[in-house]
Amino acid sequence: MTPTATAPAKSKAQAQPHKFWDTENIYLFTGVGAARALDYASTRHLRDQGDYEWLLSNSIVDNRSLFVGIELAGTAASIGVSYLFHRTGHHSLERWVSIAHIGVGVGGSIHNYLLKPMPLTAQPGITIQPGREARGAAWEENVAQTWFEGRHY
Ligand SMILES: [Zn+2]
Repeated sequence: MTPTATAPAKSKAQAQPHKFWDTENIYLFTGVGAARALDYASTRHLRDQGDYEWLLSNSIVDNRSLFVGIELAGTAASIGVSYLFHRTGHHSLERWVSIAHIGVGVGGSIHNYLLKPMPLTAQPGITIQPGREARGAAWEENVAQTWFEGRHY
């Protein structure tokens, strides 16, 4: 093909961009929402076994409705950035916002699930109740210390 033959075709493609809510974007935005839901589930999993959330504060994560709102806002913000790229003609960047978001969300969730439970200072014979993190490590050490003293006596 000669340059004169390709040039009009290219400018025509730019003049008629795809619709924002096309099939590819709908799939990508669904993926962003799914990655956010996975992040929510994996962070709750992490908190339930007593580890600490490093990105948001524990008080936010433990406030479940607020945390869900943040995940939804993150999804909405991601779609908003995609829309800005779409309107300014950056249709490749528009897709990559969602792809990167899904990658970060899934990667972070895998990290959350791989974290080991918080190590217990307790020894066999001590029953640790669910919700132990609320009492703190000092409480656990105190219980363990009492247990050892009892054994030695
Ligand atoms: Zn576009």
